Order: sequence, then structure tokens, then C-alpha cells
Amino acid sequence: MGKDILQDKVLVLNKHYQAVQITTVLRAICHLVKGTAKVITPDWTTHTLEEWIEASRFYDNGRLIRSPSLSLVAPEAIYLVNYDRLPRLEVVFNRANLFMRDHYTCQYCGKSVRNPKDRTIDHVIPRSRGGKTVWTNVVLCCRKCNLKKGDRTPEEAGMKLLKKPEPPRWQSLFLEKFPEEKREAWKPFLDFAGLYPES
Ligand SMILES: [Zn+2]
Repeated sequence: MGKDILQDKVLVLNKHYQAVQITTVLRAICHLVKGTAKVITPDWTTHTLEEWIEASRFYDNGRLIRSPSLSLVAPEAIYLVNYDRLPRLEVVFNRANLFMRDHYTCQYCGKSVRNPKDRTIDHVIPRSRGGKTVWTNVVLCCRKCNLKKGDRTPEEAGMKLLKKPEPPRWQSLFLEKFPEEKREAWKPFLDFAGLYPES
């Protein structure tokens, strides 16, 4: 059986069908064997392991796993039958997550900053004025805007923020990490949970 398939990603929903995590096919199968999860397909049909093995004979997504004891299609998504907790909403504060929150876009001029070397962190209220390094006071800023702004507040510099900086929600990072176009099969679940950005 293909080792790669077992390490492929599976979307995990809680019992209310809210996306809570990403796991591997291997771990998803362990959940199915233990009975702690069921497979859920994009048309919202759910299957126990036995049902899924049966359905796998007809549902071929090109990811068939064969072993002496088991032959089944790698699921795209599972839901945890007894798990009702919500996704973790707190996101660790660091550079990478900050840039993700700001969609790799300068929060002053609105330009996409593709080159990591051109991404800087701007303190909206400068550190020299007591501005803290917290989600609500830092934004991604391109080098050019950072130079222009200098040690001033946006008002003093005559610059305007695209949006008020806020702590990111776990869900929005979820989508940045796992762009939806790569996972058509996940879309119904993420749409349902209201996780897709409005556009
Ligand atoms: Zn800029």
C-alpha cells in the first residue's frame, strides 16, 4: 500500500461538523477502527468503518489502500462522534502567524509582499511611545512604508491602516495553511462552518 496515502491529510470535524483539525489518513483509520470517528463524504453521508469498506468498492477517489486485512479508500474527512469541543481560537503570536493573518499584504499600501525580505513588522504605536508587541499593535508592513512611517503613529505619518489589527482566529489560519483549491472535498464542511472568507 502506498505510504504516501497514509500520510496524506484528512480533515477532522467535531460531532457538530465543525472543522477542528487536520490529521493523517493513518490516524484517521485508527479512529475508525476504534469507533471514535466516522467517515463523512462531501454529500454529508456518514459511514462507520464497516460501511466505508463496503462503500469503498464503489467510491473510488484514486486513493485505494490495500492491506491483507483491509481494503478501503482513504477518507477525505472524518468526524469525531464524541468530540464536541470547538476549534482552538487562540493563535500563537509569532512572525509567521502575523504575516499569515495579514495575508502577506502590507497593511498600509495594500501591496502583496511576496519577497520575505521585504516584509517588516510595524508597531502601529511605535515602541518608543510605549507601543506593545501584541496582535493589536503590530502589522505586516513593506519596507517602503516602514521607512516612510518611521517612528510615528499612522496619523502623524498621514498613513491609514487597511484594517484594525486584531488577534487572528484559528479558522482563518486554517485556510491559509490549507488552501481550499487543493481540497475540493473539504469545501462543503468549511463552507458550512462559515470559515470561507467572504469575497
Ligand atoms: Zn507598503
